[in-house]
Amino acid sequence: MSDLHRRVDETHAILERIARDFTPAVFASSLAAEDMVLTDLILKAELPIAIFSLETGRLHAETLAMIDRVKDTYDYDIALFRPDPLAVERYVTQNGLNAFYESVDMRKECCRIRKVEPLGRALAGKRAWITGQRRAQSATRAELAVQEDDLSHAMQKFNPLTDWSEENVWDYLRSNNVPYNALHDRGFPSIGCEPCTRAVQPGEDLRAGRWWWENPESKECGLHVVDGKLIRIKSVAA
Ligand code: SF4
Repeated sequence: MSDLHRRVDETHAILERIARDFTPAVFASSLAAEDMVLTDLILKAELPIAIFSLETGRLHAETLAMIDRVKDTYDYDIALFRPDPLAVERYVTQNGLNAFYESVDMRKECCRIRKVEPLGRALAGKRAWITGQRRAQSATRAELAVQEDDLSHAMQKFNPLTDWSEENVWDYLRSNNVPYNALHDRGFPSIGCEPCTRAVQPGEDLRAGRWWWENPESKECGLHVVDGKLIRIKSVAA
């Protein structure tokens, strides 16, 4: 059995276990390559796992286009969670539209308003959530586990692609004809908000283009961070 087939089988088994033992469970898709692997696996297997995205109001047009491509390909509507417009207006009025470049605190406050608070709404009442994170993506993800106790949301968090390589992801997408974000062909291995994501150079860390003006240790958006620090999420034996 090839490396990819083995990983697909393992990931299928994890997703089926989540659907069986942790309903209601949801998948948080950033509409990037890894998340399209999980989207394809979940929808083709017709698993009872709802897919949502955080529509921050600052996404690339190419990322927004993926919502329609998923609809066209799978006849599936990804649920969109948007920030509180009053909170956005207050931040922009007080600090400016792009104040996140000024300091890590300003950036985290923008992420809190546009991502963390909507994520809390998306996860309300759920028993588990799923992400497309992989260990190989960055220094901040080197200790990622397949199953974790997400203390901040009081639920289980699953990262079924933990051990997948970049090559595994692209082999899967190409061999299964899965649609993917056009930004990947322009040097964007990691997809985030438009003003906070740039293309990377060959050999750079895959997440080097995210919040590129900050230190690597600061580079999480708060979705996997509590009180401004990386969470010491407790790993759970899968
Ligand atoms: S990634 Fe940038 S624009 Fe998006 S929520 Fe965070 S700071 Fe704001």
